[in-house]
Amino acid sequence: MYFINVILPIPITKTFTYSITEDEAHFLQKGMRVAVPFGKSKIYTALVFEIHQNPPLVYEAKDIHQILDEKPIVNESQLKHWEWIADYYMCSLGDVYRASLPSAFLLESETIIYKNESFSDEEILKDDAFLIFEALQQQSQLTVNQIADILQKKTVLPVINELIKKSAIIIKEEIYEVYKPKLIKYVRLHQDYAADDSLGKLLEELSKAKKQREAVLTFFQLSTSKKPIKAKDLEKKADISSSILKALVDKDIFEFYHIKTDRIQFKGDTNELKKLNEFQEKALAEIKESFKEKDVTLLHGITSSGKTEVYTKLIQDVLDEGKQVLFLLPEIALTTQIITRLQVYFGNQISVFHSKYSMNERVEVWSNVLENKPKARIILGARSSVFLPFSNLGLIVVDEEHETSYKQFEPSPRYNARDAAIVLAKIHNAKILLGSATPSIESYFNAEQKKYGFVELNRRFGNIQLPKIELIDIKVKQKKKEMSGHFSDRLLKLIQEALDLKEQVILFQNRRGFSPVVECKTCGVSPQCPNCDVSLTYHKFSQELRCHYCSYQRAMPNSCGACGSATLNTKGFGTEQIELELKELFPDFKIGRMDLDTTRGKFGYQKIIGAFEAREIDVLVGTQMLSKGLDFDNVSLVGILNADSMLNYPDFRAHERAYQMMVQVSGRSGRFKEQGNVGIQTFNPYHQILQQVSTTNYLEMYKEQLQDRWQFEYPPFFRVIKITLKHKDYIKVDNGIDWLAKSLQNSFGKHVLGPTAPAVARIRNQFIKNLVIKIPPKQSLQKTKKQILKIKDTFESVKEFRPIRFILDVDAY
Ligand code: ADP
Ligand code: ZN
Ligand code: ZN
Repeated sequence: MYFINVILPIPITKTFTYSITEDEAHFLQKGMRVAVPFGKSKIYTALVFEIHQNPPLVYEAKDIHQILDEKPIVNESQLKHWEWIADYYMCSLGDVYRASLPSAFLLESETIIYKNESFSDEEILKDDAFLIFEALQQQSQLTVNQIADILQKKTVLPVINELIKKSAIIIKEEIYEVYKPKLIKYVRLHQDYAADDSLGKLLEELSKAKKQREAVLTFFQLSTSKKPIKAKDLEKKADISSSILKALVDKDIFEFYHIKTDRIQFKGDTNELKKLNEFQEKALAEIKESFKEKDVTLLHGITSSGKTEVYTKLIQDVLDEGKQVLFLLPEIALTTQIITRLQVYFGNQISVFHSKYSMNERVEVWSNVLENKPKARIILGARSSVFLPFSNLGLIVVDEEHETSYKQFEPSPRYNARDAAIVLAKIHNAKILLGSATPSIESYFNAEQKKYGFVELNRRFGNIQLPKIELIDIKVKQKKKEMSGHFSDRLLKLIQEALDLKEQVILFQNRRGFSPVVECKTCGVSPQCPNCDVSLTYHKFSQELRCHYCSYQRAMPNSCGACGSATLNTKGFGTEQIELELKELFPDFKIGRMDLDTTRGKFGYQKIIGAFEAREIDVLVGTQMLSKGLDFDNVSLVGILNADSMLNYPDFRAHERAYQMMVQVSGRSGRFKEQGNVGIQTFNPYHQILQQVSTTNYLEMYKEQLQDRWQFEYPPFFRVIKITLKHKDYIKVDNGIDWLAKSLQNSFGKHVLGPTAPAVARIRNQFIKNLVIKIPPKQSLQKTKKQILKIKDTFESVKEFRPIRFILDVDAY
């Protein structure tokens, strides 16, 4: 009698036992996949976790359907890591399994399958595969279960896997648009004529070619703007045909180039690493020294100090040892820039991994990492790449380690990728470098406690000074009537000055839409979302009211729904309103906007960032997306429209976050030539955080925040575990949370906070209640979690409470 325990991709805590034959027992290894029946008619792809000879006690083990792999696709280190995640974040191994594997590896009975429209090699398909393919000609989609019916057998996953491998079919959620960067052709002078006095010489040479002469003259006219010159613009302005330009290129007077291809696509040649300056050299040496004693080191390097170049040296060393590197980024969509920069040095050794990539790309990266292939030596990825099958990891870099996007809130596992990466590094005996200009309080604290090594980099590259930050008191400006819309005269002046110098401007407003709230002047009622307890946001461009929680939308009404009067008024302001005001204030300049509404689609960000890099946009208005590690070479002013909204936020991290956000977005200013400017508008210029931002005094911010954390018993001193209940019946949630609060208080006394309703107490018609458990430094985390799980079990055994969703979030911040 042989058995296997398997992990199923569902949220049950225990592994499940199936029976296997002796042959199967000899063939199977931990980490291989098997197709198994579950419940009445479900098929799941399960993962072998243990092979043994002990029959389960409480149920009869079913047979497996079949074995899906010839060798393990998940390795031992990964399983160790998964176990840590499941244990630490209080979730099931199944949750981690499902989050880790590309969905193509997880076929189950309900998975929906489509024909790949671009597939035409039908003759390579045999028997069953051909039958399925034919069935998909008749029906646009089939589930795995339906396919089993068609083939009249249970063992269909291998056939489906074969079809996926041959690209004959695709599975749901894998239909992504493919981004083709728009190739814009630009013109520049051939280097033989790059000197300033070349115009005279050229005109002489071309004295007989009237049209060509005209083209050159116009080129020099246009080039006073310092912007790249598009071929199309030159043709139009000089009133010449494209063949004239072509002739000039043939004569080696002009040359064509494409900005987007240059910046986004890797062309094949790699460059030498940059030579570090003395400060970077020193930081590098200190990091290496620190790694001798400590596995984790924090690099606190101010914005534009050249942290990325320091990383590249460390990466090179690890590659030379033949080991793998994981480079974690907060949000891949925003970081094409870094990808491009690293590709220039490391070329094809880099693979990018992201949950938004297509199924085939993800499967490919997975296999390449598993087999330790040369093209997957460096993995660049967002948080989910900590789950890849590394076998030989030498270094992890966590860039912008303070970023909230490292934390996954939904669905389970609710992990923090930075922390999960620290554990991953430990499992591999690898080193891990956390980098940031504005470290999280907890990482800085760990460095101060000597748990982590610590290295500083305090100079901007090229010795450019940090931007000059000016606080603009808009209370005073309003009194003196020096505001135009949401702009103070001072900020407008700074914008005008930058634009006059042909430099670019970034304006930050941490709210999208036109204005957050619409309110009736007569009766004071605001239109609400029918599904959530929140006011709708007015979007002027589309003349709509939208909910930012559930994406409900409807047309902007003409009159108040409550009292009928036509006195609807808008309050507050968002990015869209700023964009419109700017267009009126600066009609001769191109204004762009980057927020959730303008960046939908896989490549939304790249398009806007690309246009800004190509200087097709003069002023870019955006939300916090703009604060994430972007490197623009012509931005000399950053404006923050309203700092106060970030400060008045009911969260123990609000001040830390506000500081990080403002310093990071300010850091986009003046990175290349000379000191940049930052203008911050506020009603409250004496707020301590704004004072600390204006002097970039991280240490003072840190000390003050740490004091508060100590006093109010928050991390890094106390740990917090958050419990959330959700259900569509308010009474149920309310009763549930009261019961839970009482039982938890019995165990943890005053360290249970709540119950509270969150600021938005109903989302998508689900009512929400929270409890927070604080764990003092000396209290055992293990025991606390055990006790919480015990209480959860009891809770779930009460019939009335069973339908309530119970969510556990460890380190819920
Ligand atoms: P950070 O990540 O610290 O904000 P970056 O690594 O983006 O800083 O560096 C800022 C800019 O300075 C980048 O454009 C980068 O190419 C340039 N830079 C940094 N170090 C060097 C170096 N040693 N040689 C040449 N250019 C450098
Ligand atoms: Zn809603
Ligand atoms: Zn009204």
